Amino acid sequence: KIYASLITIGDELLIGQTIDTNSAWMAQRLNEIGIWIQRRVAVGDDKAAIIKALEEEGKNSRIVLITGGLGPTADDITKPVLCEYFGGKLVQDEAALQNVLQLSAMRGLPVLQRNLDQALVPDVATIIQNKRGSAPGMWFEKGGSIYVSMPGVPHEMKGIMEHDVTGMLQARFETPALLHHTLITAGMGESFVAERIMDFENNLPKHIKLAYLPNYGLLKLRLTSISPDKQSAANELQHAFDTLKSLVGDILVAEKDVTMGEVLGEVLKAKKLKVGTAESCTGGKIASLITAIPGSSAYFNGSVVAYSYEVKQHVLGVQAETLEKHGAVSEKTVREMAEGALRVLDVDCVMAVSGIMGPDGGTEEKPVGSVWIAVGGKGKIVTKLHRFRYDRARNIDMTCVAAMNELRK
Ligand code: ATP
Ligand code: MG
Repeated sequence: KIYASLITIGDELLIGQTIDTNSAWMAQRLNEIGIWIQRRVAVGDDKAAIIKALEEEGKNSRIVLITGGLGPTADDITKPVLCEYFGGKLVQDEAALQNVLQLSAMRGLPVLQRNLDQALVPDVATIIQNKRGSAPGMWFEKGGSIYVSMPGVPHEMKGIMEHDVTGMLQARFETPALLHHTLITAGMGESFVAERIMDFENNLPKHIKLAYLPNYGLLKLRLTSISPDKQSAANELQHAFDTLKSLVGDILVAEKDVTMGEVLGEVLKAKKLKVGTAESCTGGKIASLITAIPGSSAYFNGSVVAYSYEVKQHVLGVQAETLEKHGAVSEKTVREMAEGALRVLDVDCVMAVSGIMGPDGGTEEKPVGSVWIAVGGKGKIVTKLHRFRYDRARNIDMTCVAAMNELRK
């Protein structure tokens, strides 16, 4: 196996001010091309810490990917530290210089010396141009390991990885074929699914692994095959996947790794239906999840965020009496919200949600996490009470997924 280590650099990562998304992204990307992750290390903008990480990870792995600390400000010290560690001196890279000048011109900004310095690179490094920013990537080799330093800005790092680094690594190493096949189920807990497919799981070929990944009411089942022979691995994996699919046919939601929003989008597109939402406790998040998907304008009309009694009444036409007698979190209210949204948004089907997300506002009868969801079209609205038991943020997410799942059905 070929192993890689990831080093992310930045004080902001250590104190949790920035969440290290770079490692997760790079790990996934490397994994896709058959490279295994040995370790992920985060260090501050600190010379001794960076050098220690380089020494250790160079011993652990043949590939060491590094992000962060390449900026033009004094707190970014990665480049001089790398220069010292790998030897060599800073020289000007002509392509990087042109890139810096071009970026400044495009932004209409004067060029500062510290911007020009971004084009200074160690002469022992292979330079990888960064079309999305001013700090180029740098490829070093030492003691049989490869070290690639990239900017911390996720968008820039991804550009460099996709355009150059993954290809350069694949050209260098014979990696085994690593194949994933994922399906998604809904409506059955993982232990029950595990019971059902126990025989299948026990009889899988050695090089095929099954992973259970529960996520917001959905369960992803991922089959992974690692084998030097790409073609036979692909066939075997497909065979296992087909068997698995037939075992969970009744709870199958999707045959690839997608979000609930994407699943619902496919259903709506196929049925040529327009959808809208009437959202109280989710504050528009269902609409946001739907519109995060490219092409959603084909099936999404709009949303009413009806948080207050007034908006529920005056925009959606919920009866004052309904709200007084039953409260906002009630079957009658979500039903009237759904009916109102069908009319106001001029859609074929709707999702309406109203609930108590916490931490306050719960009662004995309606504890925190109680959510009424109404879905459907004209004359066929279905309602359901959910009781989620999480914190506010997760209750909101669960509500969104549950509403989309109900409508999908
Ligand atoms: P630049 O050349 O653009 O200044 P840089 O290499 O100096 O990039 P940093 O200054 O360390 O990078 O970080 C730039 C931005 O990228 C910051 O907003 C930081 O929060 C973010 N960032 C840095 N490292 C990571 C990481 N591991 N995951 C996610 N975001 C990160
Ligand atoms: Mg930094």
